[in-house]
Amino acid sequence: MKDAAASLANVYAPETFRVAGHQLIDQIADYLASVPTAVANPVQDPADLLAAYREVLANGTSPEMLFSKYLAESLHVHAPAYMGHQVNPPAPLTALCDLTNGIINGSTAIYEMGRTGAVMERIVIEQFAELLGLAPTTGGFMTNGGTLGNLTALLAARAAKWPAGDPWQAGNGDLRPCLFVNEQAHYCIDRAVKIMGWGTAGVVNIPSDDQFRIRTELLEPAIAEARARGLTPIAIVGSAGTTSTGSFDDLATLAAIAERQQLWFHVDGAHGAPVYLDPERRHLLAGMERADSLIMDFHKMQMTPGLTTGVFFRKGTDAYRTFHQRADYLLSFDTSEEDQYNIGRRTFECTKNMMSFRVYSLLACYGAEVFREYVVRVNAIGRQFARDIRLHPDFELALEPDCNIVCFRYRPAQSALSATELDDINAMIRAQLVTETSYYIVQTRLHQRVYLRCTFTNPFTEGEHTQEMLKHLTSMGKALLEFRKIPLL
Ligand SMILES: *Cc1c(COP(=O)(O)O)cnc(C)c1O
Repeated sequence: MKDAAASLANVYAPETFRVAGHQLIDQIADYLASVPTAVANPVQDPADLLAAYREVLANGTSPEMLFSKYLAESLHVHAPAYMGHQVNPPAPLTALCDLTNGIINGSTAIYEMGRTGAVMERIVIEQFAELLGLAPTTGGFMTNGGTLGNLTALLAARAAKWPAGDPWQAGNGDLRPCLFVNEQAHYCIDRAVKIMGWGTAGVVNIPSDDQFRIRTELLEPAIAEARARGLTPIAIVGSAGTTSTGSFDDLATLAAIAERQQLWFHVDGAHGAPVYLDPERRHLLAGMERADSLIMDFHKMQMTPGLTTGVFFRKGTDAYRTFHQRADYLLSFDTSEEDQYNIGRRTFECTKNMMSFRVYSLLACYGAEVFREYVVRVNAIGRQFARDIRLHPDFELALEPDCNIVCFRYRPAQSALSATELDDINAMIRAQLVTETSYYIVQTRLHQRVYLRCTFTNPFTEGEHTQEMLKHLTSMGKALLEFRKIPLL
């Protein structure tokens, strides 16, 4: 017993922490200083990596060695050569918040457990409601990711728009509810519908136009058709922007249709809601302020670690509907000050970390302006890159980018390639790029065809990086064409 006590005392010893902590901060600062020239994607075979981490466990290690290995072998989102998925490089200050949260371990479900996080959460929602031009009645909370945020908002939509009875208590019964969404929407909307038990018929996918925006002229006919088929429309979901291409649905038109049809209007702004902060791009979000609910990820375009998501309700009290039986909602609807501090009533999570600290710290120490500066900068990188692609004879732009997501593909002007050959070559040069150079990009399918996809989340990615990346792709493409003996025209 004595030994166990000594061993636990060692685990918790402040002086041990002080030494390891100072070392770690130095290691991370050195890492951040070195990362501008780093390979974004240090490739390792998954089986090798698994074996290596098993070996560490078998042999034991020190915190210093462990952190050093972990830093070196992870994907480096702070490298300017990182142009891959939507996750942003967190501001270092937010990492210090996470370190502190890791010690305090507060939980915002109940005020007493997470007092500091709870008040900061309310302030962050208030501040961003204002920054995003939302109504003064707006209220909300923070949650673990856009996926959960969308589900939570759609549960509120269901509670608000259910024609009769209480789905929370009685389930869906004979009703066949559905929502309407751009076919390009994130897959989590489909998941939310399935989790609510609405089945496949519960998602009506509306085709998109050549810019991958929802074709709004098809929406009201689709609603009428769904009603004629015996479905009960509940909500319209707008994408701002879509995940593959960063395209923004026409939110104002969607809002007008939702109002006319008396449906809930939800906006999935996981990626693109912050684009509102960019004065040149703000028009893309016209109508967002009319949404009944809106979600936004801070970990994609607002410099925080994941998961950090805001859920906003135009009528702040709607947030209380989600996990509430209707009778209770009507009879003892408590939105008192006290209840606002106990956030667990409105969130999916019970124990929920105090993620608001990350955003609050940036607001408090740097001011709201840095959020705008970040968005303006990454959008500008996207635009510059799109310009380079447009002028390049060997590449083709999928569409003019609305924000920091750019889809393009290698398509040499001088050769005759079938659609399948183009797909193969693009997939191959991406694979080669991410294994043989310092660059990290991803790929997607648009209209069934393979496209390369960059999301510029690193504000320090410069034209020299993107141009060098294109040079690599061009020479890899050329080599492949020669190898396959594809004739030049
Ligand atoms: C990323 C994304 C999501 C999912 O958000 P998570 O935070 O990864 O759960 C949902 N919708 C859109 C449009 C997204 O871009």
